[in-house]
Amino acid sequence: MNNSSIKLNDFDAAIEQELAEVIEKYKSYISPTIADLWNMADFARLFIRGEGMQLWDKEGKIYYDFVAGYGAVNFGHNNPVIISGIKQMLESQVPSIVQISPTVITSALAENIAQLLPGDLEVSFFCNSGTEAIEAALKLVKKISNKRYIVSALGSFHGKSLGSLSISGKEKYKKYYRPLLKYTINIPFGDIEAAESVFKEKDVAAFFIEPIQGEAGVIIPPTGYLKEMRNLCDKYGVLLVVDEIQTGFGRTGKNFAVEYDNIVPDIMTISKSMGGGIAPIGACVTSKSLFKRAYGKSENYALHTSTFGGNNFTATAAIQATKLLIDENFATKAEQKGLYFKKCLLELQQKYSIIKEIRAIGLMIGIEFQMDYFGGLDEMKSQIESYLDDEFDYMGDLLSDDLYKTIDRFTTRITGNIESYMQKNFTLMISSYLLKEYRILTFSTLNNPNVIRIQPPLIITEKEIDYFISSFESVLKKFMFEREIVNI
Ligand code: PLP
Repeated sequence: MNNSSIKLNDFDAAIEQELAEVIEKYKSYISPTIADLWNMADFARLFIRGEGMQLWDKEGKIYYDFVAGYGAVNFGHNNPVIISGIKQMLESQVPSIVQISPTVITSALAENIAQLLPGDLEVSFFCNSGTEAIEAALKLVKKISNKRYIVSALGSFHGKSLGSLSISGKEKYKKYYRPLLKYTINIPFGDIEAAESVFKEKDVAAFFIEPIQGEAGVIIPPTGYLKEMRNLCDKYGVLLVVDEIQTGFGRTGKNFAVEYDNIVPDIMTISKSMGGGIAPIGACVTSKSLFKRAYGKSENYALHTSTFGGNNFTATAAIQATKLLIDENFATKAEQKGLYFKKCLLELQQKYSIIKEIRAIGLMIGIEFQMDYFGGLDEMKSQIESYLDDEFDYMGDLLSDDLYKTIDRFTTRITGNIESYMQKNFTLMISSYLLKEYRILTFSTLNNPNVIRIQPPLIITEKEIDYFISSFESVLKKFMFEREIVNI
């Protein structure tokens, strides 16, 4: 290829693009499917500036981010503490990526993590994403244990690489990729008896669990679940692996959600907000003794490595994130604002029958919608039919039985289709309205599309919560979901 004929984009060219050009590039070079979906739900915006809760599009319109990178932006967009650390690092000319020798920032980050995590969790393997942290944990378990089974929860989400998928609890994302890892079992979340019966029957190496299931629709287990699971794992010699990729870094009102039950897992996985909302980084953290059992011999030191894992650039962002978490007490912010948010949402639930349940812990919030509501469509159909009966009486025997049956089949099919379409797309419709009318970003949870996730940056103010509540209420009103109307 002749290099002089290639015209490549640089940063200036990239940032100057208009929305239509960006969508075209997605269509051509990334995913035509997602480009079409964005168009369908009218989700595409071109954000070129972010600060705290807010995002700016090219025209200077301000949006409010209640998704926060699915939990990766706890400290807000472009938090000044994260930015100044990164700027300092880049200006200092510390090399980002060096191999065969230790990296200076990484060592300090590892010490910070050891101080933040409970008990003897103090040895970190650094990687670049949540799913890589889970892969590292799976390999660690396999290296330590000579038992076979990995147990995890139905509905759980641990990432989309093959190992993580093998233990995740949603068939939709697994079925095209079989065979996955053998010897995995999903049990109901929060069910101690189910866990004990599997631990009794099978040779179980490890139990992987999210303290609160995020993608399953923000499912909060019964109080003390993790504590009891810790005891059960000890009783049966099962390694307890807690996935704090989404719940960590203050999101639930504690630095890490295991603090609610005051337990120390054998292995913990962290990521998302660990990168301060800017850098992709994750870690699989364990105790010295377990690390030694797995990788303590010199011939084993390179069994699990990553070229980019824990480089000086991402480690700088993470160092700043750990400092911010503690110095600015983000967990307490999440706890206080979460309580206020929950109270406001519960008040809305009293008024609007479409809200089935509010689940909230800190600023990890799920709004589950009442999809049985659409049983109302059946009611509507029978009313239309009864009206038609009167009309048909008047028209005498003009309609043949066959024609009547055809009409009946037709209306049944149409209402059925509308109902299933509404169920699939209801949360999409609400999110799309919130974006279009109120410039609020929300989205459903991955494994439960009936639930809208509310996971704003932890710096959210009460005023911004009030804005969300009044906007959300306007959307519900628009679709006439008030209790009085439903009860007629
Ligand atoms: N584990 C949990 C609990 C998650 O919520 C996620 C992502 O949402 C992952 C693992 C996977 O993380 P990543 O998307 O960075 O691979």
